[in-house]
Amino acid sequence: MTEQDCLFCKIVSGEVPADVMRESDRTIAFRDINPQAPTHVLVIPREHHPTAAALASSDGDLLAELIREAHRVAVADGVDETGYRVVFNTGSGAGQTVFHVHAHVLGGRGLGWPPG
Ligand code: 5GP
Ligand code: ZN
Repeated sequence: MTEQDCLFCKIVSGEVPADVMRESDRTIAFRDINPQAPTHVLVIPREHHPTAAALASSDGDLLAELIREAHRVAVADGVDETGYRVVFNTGSGAGQTVFHVHAHVLGGRGLGWPPG
């Protein structure tokens, strides 16, 4: 997939609409279209990077910003004290379907461990 075809780049540009709940200079957080928990928000960098590992290599500060924004999402939805999970699916075998790095922020219900 090229960046021109990237769904999340299109959300960044506004070409594809999304339920945006937070924005920072370098990130956007929007609600997942198919939520798996009462809080299910995706936090993405505005820049295109395919995976968390690729982003860690090229811009570790931006990866840290995703984690800080994930916490702000949890605070905004009131799930920071009950607990929340931040997930980076990496690779198709782990369920990654959009190759623009995104942190899933999940909370608002009990989350089993290990994940199914
Ligand atoms: P992945 O499977 O790559 O870890 O996560 C991709 C996520 O993007 C999925 O949870 C899926 O529901 C979500 N998603 C796919 N298309 C859209 C869309 O057009 N809008 C929003 N808000 N979420 C989407
Ligand atoms: Zn992209």
